[in-house]
Amino acid sequence: MPKIAQVIVDVPAMQTDRPFDYLIPASWEAIIAPGMRVEVPFGSRQIQGFVINIVEKTAFQDQLKAIIGVMDLAPVLSTELLLLSNDMVKQTFAFKISCLQAMLPSMMRAKYEKHLTVIDELTEAEQFELFKGKDSMTWKEAESRNLLPLLAKLKKEDKIEISYEVVNKARVKKIKMVKPLLTFEQMEEEKEACQKRAPKQALVLSFLQSLLIEEKDSSSVALQKEANVTSAVLKQMAKKNWLAFYEKEAYRNPYQDRVFKKTQAMPLTSQQQQVITPILAAVNTSKNETFLLKGVTGSGKTEVYLQTISKVVALGQQAIMLVPEIALTPQMVERFKGRFGEAVAVLHSGLSEGEKYDEWRKIERGEAKIVVGARSAVFAPFQNLGVIIVDEEHESTYKQEDNPRYHARDIAIWRGQYHDCPVILGSATPSLESRARAQKKVYTLLELTERVNQQQLPEVEIIDMKDELKAGNRSSFAMSLQNKIRGRIAKGEQTVLLLNRRGYSSFIMCRDCGFVLGCPNCDISLTLHMDTKTMKCHYCGHEEGIPRECPSCHGHHIRYYGTGTQKVEEELLSVIPEARVIRMDVDTTRKKGAHEKLLAAFEQGEADILLGTQMIAKGLDFPNITLVGVLNADTALGLPDFRAGEKTFQLLTQVSGRPGRGTIKGEVVVQTFNPEHYAIQLAKEHDYDRFYAHEMMLRHRGKYPPYYYTVLITTSHQNEIEAAKKIQKVIEEIKPQLSEQTIILGPTPKSIAKVNNRYYYQCILKYKNEPNLFDILHQIIQSSQGEIAKGLYLSVDPEPLSFM
Ligand code: ADP
Ligand code: ZN
Repeated sequence: MPKIAQVIVDVPAMQTDRPFDYLIPASWEAIIAPGMRVEVPFGSRQIQGFVINIVEKTAFQDQLKAIIGVMDLAPVLSTELLLLSNDMVKQTFAFKISCLQAMLPSMMRAKYEKHLTVIDELTEAEQFELFKGKDSMTWKEAESRNLLPLLAKLKKEDKIEISYEVVNKARVKKIKMVKPLLTFEQMEEEKEACQKRAPKQALVLSFLQSLLIEEKDSSSVALQKEANVTSAVLKQMAKKNWLAFYEKEAYRNPYQDRVFKKTQAMPLTSQQQQVITPILAAVNTSKNETFLLKGVTGSGKTEVYLQTISKVVALGQQAIMLVPEIALTPQMVERFKGRFGEAVAVLHSGLSEGEKYDEWRKIERGEAKIVVGARSAVFAPFQNLGVIIVDEEHESTYKQEDNPRYHARDIAIWRGQYHDCPVILGSATPSLESRARAQKKVYTLLELTERVNQQQLPEVEIIDMKDELKAGNRSSFAMSLQNKIRGRIAKGEQTVLLLNRRGYSSFIMCRDCGFVLGCPNCDISLTLHMDTKTMKCHYCGHEEGIPRECPSCHGHHIRYYGTGTQKVEEELLSVIPEARVIRMDVDTTRKKGAHEKLLAAFEQGEADILLGTQMIAKGLDFPNITLVGVLNADTALGLPDFRAGEKTFQLLTQVSGRPGRGTIKGEVVVQTFNPEHYAIQLAKEHDYDRFYAHEMMLRHRGKYPPYYYTVLITTSHQNEIEAAKKIQKVIEEIKPQLSEQTIILGPTPKSIAKVNNRYYYQCILKYKNEPNLFDILHQIIQSSQGEIAKGLYLSVDPEPLSFM
């Protein structure tokens, strides 16, 4: 009986979002298993797919096509991850293929190469001149040889066809190695013989002799460098059979040139001891329990993670340590590599595709026991997890914004249950959702209330910028902040200045007629970028020059509004010309490694001030920073987002944890137009508990999470009326099926209603208990699939983090 594979194909569409059956050729029966990537025929194409199951029978037995290629020799997705993907589909409304792909490094996603293949007889000239006697060529080749017009003609005559072939991008890096072929004595003889005539070869022979003694081979590149010879010299020697080349598999290691100082576990403080005890108990007894570790900044949470992981590794198990992308600083990596060395794999967006693939392979092969990584590292292919840690669990970057819209925290908890291991959620400012769950004893609350060494939390001064304006100071810097910065520069201490860019952008406006330059495709004003001297749309990427005169009234009084970091930097230099400033924002950190370089320069004292956006708020643990200024604390407060207060509190608490990590006490200055706002006042007091109580009261009153669950439904179409009609229809369909307690907000146009020439409408469901809601939504998505061809899109985002 031939075996049949159920395959999820790489076509992210509703009609194809189900397994397809394929025959397994007899020769592969022993190899093919669930979780492997295969190549299958699909329509007229060949595409990649994932085997999810193997069965003996199918309803379509006779018409089955066979699998045509195997892309892996062993499953790349475990039974666990396949199971997880089922739940992800239910919870995120994404296609199964998108969920499976999200679990693997991008290098393992299929790439398709277009081919042109001869299917009918060509003239001899065509066959030889175009196809060089072969019967197919790649699209790329055709393009580069300028053959496409000629080939288009053949296509019309049905003499050739266009096909797609799967290319496995996942390439293993190979390095060229050298091994000596002579004995020590033979080399000695040859060395003497060629000393005069070919001194370089003689030198290489000496190095080969030492390799022989150490019983090692060398990479060709290293040998060339050491002996200071070219590859030609080695090739000559290979010809004489003195040495041989061979290829060896190697990892692309982003950290290979770095030396990490070995660190030891520190004796824990009594608070640390108290929180680690129940965690280790869960580790030791393989008990699934979720801990919420709430610890003020600098309270030694990371040391608790390190010692927990140490125990897990000693038990022969593995650990996942998640950190938000922007907190994955070189310092963070250093702490883990310093403690665990080679056992640590690191995964973050700064790595090349190849480097990520190699880190993934180290995990998969069991060479790495610990992964430190951003969101997607939660899918690390460990088989025997002992702990999963989500640091800064409140961070919104743990939720993926596009499909599949998963939250890494939910995945961590799912895997913790599967592996019967503890999950630790750590934060100085836990999300309201997690804190509330701890209150209901769903999570176990553990607290670190003191900083290690009893260092005090810094003094926070709040400055009302309205008063500055009244006093005639129109700059972005309050007088007292300016003075404090000058004082720090005089003492050789460092300052961090943070510009809160959330909901903020710089734009231009005509002071004569009030015209604001907007994007032609989107319902949003263009943002000014001084480095490229252009106006850019942050939604669709549209770009144009900065107008010199008003496009509307042709006046010349154009004013630049907003405080982009570049403009703030200029202003800073005009008030404190002696300051040496490093600016860190999306523009200066776009290049790979730029982030690390700027931080290293700052750490080495090459600047007095680090000026930047949100990305500098975390992980900066330099003892010489004694002053932090937040230039505009309240830009987020005006946004139509019920989490605005929470986000502001988190940000201010985060930056307040920066200064004073050394021996000098730190200071924080917060500039704001809303000095009385509770989020700002309570951040000044470092009082999370009161903030939590107040915010919970507001959420209760407004019927928001964590009291209610939320779902965001969005429709879009090029024609505004179509998008509006569809959302109305969706609501009419759902409403009768929901309980009376459930609240439907909307429909409304999205706050940025038009993006890339599409109009967006949304509605928000707030509910307490709707056991059938997800099924209903899945059905609606299913029944809406016919409309996709007409350009009408529907999307569902469970527990959205942005409502704009
Ligand atoms: P958090 O992660 O809570 O912000 P860290 O783990 O970074 O705190 O700890 C803050 C500082 O205190 C670090 O420099 C760390 O090395 C140090 N530290 C942590 N635990 C101990 C300890 N038990 N003894 C001495 N120093 C410690
Ligand atoms: Zn645009």
